[in-house]
Amino acid sequence: MDYKALSELLFPDVTNTPEALEEQYPPRDLPEGAVVSRMGPSPTGFVHLGNLVQGITSERMCHQSGGTLFLRVEDTDSKREVPGAIESLIRGLAHYGINFDEGATIDGEKGAYGPYKQSRRAHIYHVYAKKLVAEGKAYPCFCTEEELQEIHARQEAAKENFGYYGKYAVWRDRPMEDIKAALAEGKEWVLRFRSEGSIEHKIKFTDLIKGPLELTENDIDHVLLKSDGIPTYHFAHAVDDHLMRTTHVVRGDEWLPSLPLHIQLFSALGFKLPKYLHVGTLQKMDGASKRKLSKRKDPELALSFYREQGYPVPSVYEYIMTILNSNFEDWRRANPTAPVGDFKFSPKKMNPAGSLFDEDKLRDVSKEVISRMTAAEVYDGVLDWAKEYDPDFAALLERSPDYARAILAIGRGGKKPRKDFAVWSEVKPYMSFFYEELFEPDYTPPEGMTPEEMANILRAYYRQRMQMWHEKHTMLEPDGNEWFENVKALAESLGYCPDTKLYRQEPEKWKGSAGDVSMALRIAICGRRQSPDMYSVLKIMDGDDPDVSGDFFMGRLERAGAALGADTSEWNSR
Ligand code: GLU
Repeated sequence: MDYKALSELLFPDVTNTPEALEEQYPPRDLPEGAVVSRMGPSPTGFVHLGNLVQGITSERMCHQSGGTLFLRVEDTDSKREVPGAIESLIRGLAHYGINFDEGATIDGEKGAYGPYKQSRRAHIYHVYAKKLVAEGKAYPCFCTEEELQEIHARQEAAKENFGYYGKYAVWRDRPMEDIKAALAEGKEWVLRFRSEGSIEHKIKFTDLIKGPLELTENDIDHVLLKSDGIPTYHFAHAVDDHLMRTTHVVRGDEWLPSLPLHIQLFSALGFKLPKYLHVGTLQKMDGASKRKLSKRKDPELALSFYREQGYPVPSVYEYIMTILNSNFEDWRRANPTAPVGDFKFSPKKMNPAGSLFDEDKLRDVSKEVISRMTAAEVYDGVLDWAKEYDPDFAALLERSPDYARAILAIGRGGKKPRKDFAVWSEVKPYMSFFYEELFEPDYTPPEGMTPEEMANILRAYYRQRMQMWHEKHTMLEPDGNEWFENVKALAESLGYCPDTKLYRQEPEKWKGSAGDVSMALRIAICGRRQSPDMYSVLKIMDGDDPDVSGDFFMGRLERAGAALGADTSEWNSR
């Protein structure tokens, strides 16, 4: 067979050569060890956690080594294409700090190794298709869909492996006349790879995540070009990753079964094989067993879920790091304030079987991450989220930023910062009692206390404050200890034990402890049984912020007293 003639027959218009392409796309001038990697999304419109996992993996590999990360659009399947999909992906990943140095961008392309859209690279694939044909490594196949189905049926009946190989590869060695005749008839054809592999042979291969593997050789004459001249993933992968000078292919492990074919293709094309990182699929526990995260069943698979729920960007990022690199948590504990980018990401620390996603763990990580933020950072995060998902709350936050930041500063900093929220949507219920618009009190008295008794405590506290005002022109002690001393004194005067230990020894001697008194105050002022440190709360409510009247909590005491049935008009009388 004159393969050269066949190549001219099939690709008469292709005049460019592999040598010219090699020159056009020279090896990159990068330092030793620099990783060049890419993401090759199909524009299907669904941006998911798997994209982020792969994005972080390749981004870290590239940028940690001084290399290049690029974005290639794998749009060879036009049926699945959704408008705006690439933009969503770019924005979705940029939100988490994954930025591409090169490739497809929101407004066009940048970089010297393009085009970066596979649909615009047909002329390039055809150069290599022609070369393979000329070397007898690829051939046209004119089988119709029916004929292929018939082959499949015969294989099924004979209990043989499926696929186009061996005696089933009916166009593999057809004479030129048959090919010419088929072409003359205008029959459609695909280009197939002539596999020299055998399933009797194993190949050894080392994946950077999965480790050493033994794979069965490929013996199937896979399709390289479809009848419309568009390449399959396999062929495009080999040509693109070679010409774009990819050093490391990071992709989902659903591609692992195709790897033997890819190894053959790189070799047949005379290309150096890149390194591979096959990332395991994300799984979750479903009862006692693990399963893949599913688009249909698991809303948390969509990347948009995290933004909607109000997970801060660094929380999601750190959580992904936690599940990607087994040593990340130890590193974080040892370096609580270091920027996450200082962590040395390593594919060796990835779980070959894929990571287990667990939203409870994400929440824990997120609480931790938020607890390390400054009040100003929390404020910015909540506001940004609220502007989109809770505009009324955003307006309250913006009415007095300093007031909001002061609230958010309670319990922040120090060795054991508070961990009140995992998502921004939890901030509003946490701070709602500081805003009249949001205040929905529950004045149920503490365990075992009657409403009259609670009102009595409120009245006494109110009067203590009034007296302080008359004597010192302030309604609040200058520090928390002094405040609590006064609460204890008040408690004792009302028959409550000022000391918890003492109280436990002889509870029958007292109405209760000072704790019960401060709980009554908390319920009146915050309208709930749980709140951050009471003195800090009072301090903010006593502030000179325009949002606060200056004796905010006095109003709260009266309101609670009235709700409990007391006549608060006499509280002011001396
Ligand atoms: N288009 C392929 C996919 O979405 C890309 C795989 C790769 O990165 O090579 O799975």
